[in-house]
Amino acid sequence: MPTTMQALVVREPNVLEISEVPVPEPGPNEVLARVRAVSICGTDAHLIRGDYPNFWPPAFPFIPGHEWAGEIAALGPGAERFGFAVGDRVAGTSHDACGVCRECVEGRYNLCENYGREGLHRQYGHNVQGADATYVVHGVKCIFPLPDALTFEDGALIDPASIALHVANRGNITPGDTVAITGAGTIGLLAGDAALIRGAGRVIVVGRGYRLDKAAALGFETVDSGAGDPVGAVRELTGGSGADVVLECAGVPDTVQWALGMLRRGGRCAAVGIPTVGVEIAMQRLVLDELELVGSRASAGEMRRVMPLVEQGRMRVREMVTHRFALADYAEALATFNDRASGAIKIIVTP
Ligand SMILES: [Zn+2]
Ligand SMILES: [Zn+2]
Repeated sequence: MPTTMQALVVREPNVLEISEVPVPEPGPNEVLARVRAVSICGTDAHLIRGDYPNFWPPAFPFIPGHEWAGEIAALGPGAERFGFAVGDRVAGTSHDACGVCRECVEGRYNLCENYGREGLHRQYGHNVQGADATYVVHGVKCIFPLPDALTFEDGALIDPASIALHVANRGNITPGDTVAITGAGTIGLLAGDAALIRGAGRVIVVGRGYRLDKAAALGFETVDSGAGDPVGAVRELTGGSGADVVLECAGVPDTVQWALGMLRRGGRCAAVGIPTVGVEIAMQRLVLDELELVGSRASAGEMRRVMPLVEQGRMRVREMVTHRFALADYAEALATFNDRASGAIKIIVTP
């Protein structure tokens, strides 16, 4: 086992460096994994820009990355009791919650009351070291065996797929529902698949540019938000009544307001996009039309559940991958991700 490794180190906002850093050591109930594929998430781009000061990350320098797959290289004390062994192929997710607080015990570990408390909770790639490195340490609660039929690239997209399933679950989609999705990025597109898995009768994706073209290529109905009023367009497509459920997957003020605006009376919006500014909401309509608006944070129990859906091609993660880069070229990979003319949806980085 080498003692140092290559890692993407964000020195300060927007200052990236590929550095040689010590290989971390797995503690009790943790493993050290050799990262084989890690994908760039919108949250990574925000975090590198310094959009969440003193929170994600709590301080610079910092190693991001939280959507990854790889193989176990070493076990910390006790990890073998959970059935893990060196060489196991696994997919990672970010929330390593305390397991003891009320939210954790009730299965909502994404809402752990001990969030970020030293020794009790970690979120890899957000408040502790992430997977943009040759090796990463993860607690056994955050790694999931990868079926043989899935590649490491597929594995790197299990975390976003689980988040897409979570937002569809939070939307309480029932069979036959008309579901609108604001945002045609990876989460929006995979949320379309998740809506179909839950039995949606129609899925309408609202977005623009090549990402909306992708939504159409995947077979979803589309509304071009750059071509006029998207709320009116969704209402028109639904005979004037609006969507039963909206999954808000973009996280900017306009899309949040559109999402509520295109709901039918009594409809429900689940929001997974995280705005970086406050958003004004039409409370009068929310009250008088009994709209429901719920948040959806990461995932909680969906990692295992999405794997067979990916295997069956019902959660189409492979369709998302547009670019591949070596870790050494991360700056170029990130620039491609941020360039709305690049055609990038999901970018895989290989350490
Ligand atoms: Zn992510
Ligand atoms: Zn907890």
